[in-house]
Amino acid sequence: MDKLTNIFREKNLKLTPQRYAIYKYLKSTKSHPSAEMIYDTIKADFPTMSLATVYKTVRTLIELGLVQEINVGEDNFRFDANVDNHPHIVCITCGKVDDIEDAAFEHLNQDVENFTNYKVSTHKLYFYGICPECQKEL
Ligand code: ZN
Ligand code: MN
Repeated sequence: MDKLTNIFREKNLKLTPQRYAIYKYLKSTKSHPSAEMIYDTIKADFPTMSLATVYKTVRTLIELGLVQEINVGEDNFRFDANVDNHPHIVCITCGKVDDIEDAAFEHLNQDVENFTNYKVSTHKLYFYGICPECQKEL
């Protein structure tokens, strides 16, 4: 909380209870919620908060480097408080977005450099498939 207060203060921004709640929620979940999902989760505690406020807050958190935006396709934006570069997998049936943990993709930068003679700085990886829960319904 103190660290967050300082990050906001350095940018002359106020850490309002709503901003804090949105960041805390993103920190607590691995579900990569959309702005609408964040809004639906937080609005019970902040009945006067609008969806527009959630959008604005998420923008601010991205600018501060506290949150990253994940575009899973067709401008479906999801948000992640884990700002390290890591790959994601998207369920094409229910829309769930998961992290891919314990799989190493760092060699890809080198592979691509070998193929293209580019100096690769980063990559974004998205996999698409059907999640275990949706497979049960097939
Ligand atoms: Zn699914
Ligand atoms: Mn993630």
